[in-house]
Order: sequence, then C-alpha cells, then structure tokens
Amino acid sequence: MELGSFKIDILHDGYFKLDGGAMFGVVPKQVWDRLEPADDRNRIKLASNPTLVRTGDHTILIDTGLGDKYGPSSLDHYEIELPRYLTAELHRLGLEPENVDYVINTHLHFDHIGGNTVRNEAGDFIPAFPNAKYVMQKAEYEDAMSPGPRTKASYNPDDIVPLQESGQIHLIDGDTEVVPGIRMRVTGGHTRSHSIVEIEAEGQKALFLADLIPTSSHIRVPYVMGYDLFPADTATYKEELFKEAVEGDYILIFEHSPHVKAGRVRFDGDEIRFIAEPYA
Ligand SMILES: [Zn+2]
Repeated sequence: MELGSFKIDILHDGYFKLDGGAMFGVVPKQVWDRLEPADDRNRIKLASNPTLVRTGDHTILIDTGLGDKYGPSSLDHYEIELPRYLTAELHRLGLEPENVDYVINTHLHFDHIGGNTVRNEAGDFIPAFPNAKYVMQKAEYEDAMSPGPRTKASYNPDDIVPLQESGQIHLIDGDTEVVPGIRMRVTGGHTRSHSIVEIEAEGQKALFLADLIPTSSHIRVPYVMGYDLFPADTATYKEELFKEAVEGDYILIFEHSPHVKAGRVRFDGDEIRFIAEPYA
C-alpha cells in the first residue's frame, strides 16, 4: 500500500498457533471461540505479518517474524510451519536482506524477532540483515537479557546475542523517531517497554500495532491478552489510541491477524468499530 510517498508492504511470514484462552485474557471462550475458532488443543491460528516500509531514503523492516530455530517440541506446541517466508517475501519485492538498513524490534519475544538471526554454514547464528541497525528499547533489552520466571519462555538469546557481537544493536530509551517519518512509541502493557511503530508521510499515518492489538478480533478495549504483564495499561493505551486513530483516520496494521491485516476504526456511539481494508 502507499502512504504518501512511502511504500508499506505487510509481509506474510506464515502461520503458527497459540492458546486461545491466553490470547483473549478475561474474555470467555464462548465469546472468543466465535471470533477465532479453537482447534482440538484449544489453540487459535495466528499469522506473522512483519512489515516493510520504504521511505525512499531508507528500507525499514518492522519485526522479523518467527525465524526457524525451533526444536520438535516447540514446532508441535506452536504448530510453527517451516520454512518461514520472510526472505521469500523480500525477494518477491525485489530485495535482498542486505538492502534492509533498519530493523525495528517492537519487543524481543521470539515470535516477533526470531528472524533477526540465521544460521551460517558452520551452524552459528549470525545477523540475518548484515547492513542493518537493529533498533530496540533499552528496557526491553535489559528484560530480555535477564528474564524472570514468568517471562523466560518468551525470549531466545540466539535472537539477540549475535547482534551484540556484530555491534548492530542500537538501543533507544522511550518514544524516538528512528528515521524521518518512522517513530517508535512505547505503550507498555504487553511488556514494560513494548512499542508500536508510527509511520507518517505527507500528513497520513499508519500504525503497526505489534502486540498492543494483535489481531482484528482484539479491537474491543477489554480484549487484552493473558500474556500481557500489565494488562490494565494495555486497555488504557488502547482506549486513548482509538480516539487518536479515529480523529486522524489512521491505517492500523495487525501483526498476528490471520485474516484481515489492516483497516481503520470508527466510533459507533461509544463502541469502537473496525472497518477492514483490502490490503495485502
Ligand atoms: Zn509478544
């Protein structure tokens, strides 16, 4: 899709599954199961939609999908389909990993940054994007490098440590404009410094929502994931964001939506309504 002079491509990195109850937090199954039907192991199908923005001056990849460093139990548990499609998607656009000059990591969970690194011929992990600065929040980096008992399973050091060794990590602290028109905004909620990405060109805005609103079925304010460390903060941020998104007619991009990947929101009385748009 075009946003002013920017080109935005929502990439299809493939599917995986997570527990439906955990994905919908306090929402009862009889409600969420109608939106996203559970399989026989109570899991729902999710997509991985990292997004590429070409501003003319820069090529920025927002999150890198799941990557392929999983053992048999994770592959079974999350039903991760391999191979992942991220590199093929770049090729579809006529790009090589070398052409990406910024990678933005919204947060460091494995299902968002698993494609940060790849295995070389010797079997060691190396940066997947050799010419990119990998931009991430300092607090998220600290939390990922020394996780607690509840957060440990969400982080994989192999997604991060090779980037330290290559000197490609670029830590930022709080809301920051990464390149002109591309801004990282800290939302908290999901993790202490989980971020979304605001894309602005010629007065138009799109928001890459990461895990703030993972799918188009999570539009309602209380539909907050059980995975969130600070769920009340997620709800508050969503409520505020909808006012801004309606007012500014923003395009919203959902990182995990298996069906509708982008759209806009409108108020219908006090209720927020989602209007899908036929983006890739
Ligand atoms: Zn996450």
